[in-house]
Amino acid sequence: MNDSDQALIYDLDLEALEKILIDWGEPRYRASQIWTGLYQQLWNSPQEFTSLPHALRTRLAETFSFSHLTAGAVKKSSDGETTKTLFTLPDEKAIEAVMMLYDQRRTLCISSQAGCLMGCIFCATGAMGFQRHLSSGEIVEQVLYYARQLRAVGEAVTNIVVMGMGEPFHNYEAVMAAIDRLNHPQGMNLGARRFTVSTVGLVPGIRRFAAEGRQVNLAISLHAANNELRSSLLPINKKYPLSELMTACREYIQATNRRITFEWALIQGVNDTPRHAEELASLLEGMLCHVNVIPLNPTDGYSGQATTRERALAFQQTLQAHEVPCTIRLRRGIDMQAGCGQLATQARKK
Ligand code: SAH
Ligand code: SF4
Repeated sequence: MNDSDQALIYDLDLEALEKILIDWGEPRYRASQIWTGLYQQLWNSPQEFTSLPHALRTRLAETFSFSHLTAGAVKKSSDGETTKTLFTLPDEKAIEAVMMLYDQRRTLCISSQAGCLMGCIFCATGAMGFQRHLSSGEIVEQVLYYARQLRAVGEAVTNIVVMGMGEPFHNYEAVMAAIDRLNHPQGMNLGARRFTVSTVGLVPGIRRFAAEGRQVNLAISLHAANNELRSSLLPINKKYPLSELMTACREYIQATNRRITFEWALIQGVNDTPRHAEELASLLEGMLCHVNVIPLNPTDGYSGQATTRERALAFQQTLQAHEVPCTIRLRRGIDMQAGCGQLATQARKK
């Protein structure tokens, strides 16, 4: 079912659902029953709500859509540990969400927008341009989709990273509403610390996030430690240059006492030399932070190549010598176009 005329039920928070039920002359507890059905039982059709009176089930079915996402192409990595699903929205826009199995973790990488306005030059989503924001319910539904799959094999989602398509702080309200819905104690009850939001560095968003005192983890896509290089890779750096970005990051740490993760895609010859590592180390000196380096995932529209293993190790060692913690991440599922936006770009080419 993919009915765009009906409101998506996952777009409602519990209070909004209660208000509707009360308007319909139903007791308030019906809203909690529906909420539990949606977020604990993971039901996705009104017929499954057998504890509700038949007339109410019919009204729900007439009023709400229980699915705006239609799953299309599914790709699994050769080791079977990464699954990427392409979804079509009612207006034919395509988004993707990825599930990664790692030890006991079941991590989902979800999208916040169709396309992205930020135009980072190595990013397949950036190359698509901005299409539209996702609603909070469309963000939530990506999680429900995989949660149902995991439930079927006796497992559950453990972590969520908002690192799929789109810039979460450009769609701030919907992303935070989605997190609040998934975090709700009467629903999925996923702890705030299990979420990570990754931003390209929208300074007002970082400030707002700090002011709200959320326990959600924050990651910043840095990729360069001087303005010239960063602006050439990430055009948004012209609007929010490094000095402003780093001030906002330091204020965030001061206000929340929480560690920031900085992301750095290692591009051969561009930002992967010892000099770049030294520059980064001095930028981050004394900060409560962690650096994740990841070899670039090559994309069609960009000629840059992934760094070598040796250079990645040298980069890490330089940072560690300056007491900046650094982890080398593997690009999971490089054999299955798991890079940000790559599956959706392929679908659009067809
Ligand atoms: N818009 C947000 C979140 C989505 S992108 C952001 O930019 O942070 C998630 C991460 O993937 C970001 O760190 C981004 O810089 C990185 N990324 C995008 N394209 C990549 C590529 N081709 N190789 C490696 N990392 C990439
Ligand atoms: Fe947008 Fe992030 Fe891609 Fe940049 S890296 S274009 S901000 S999705």
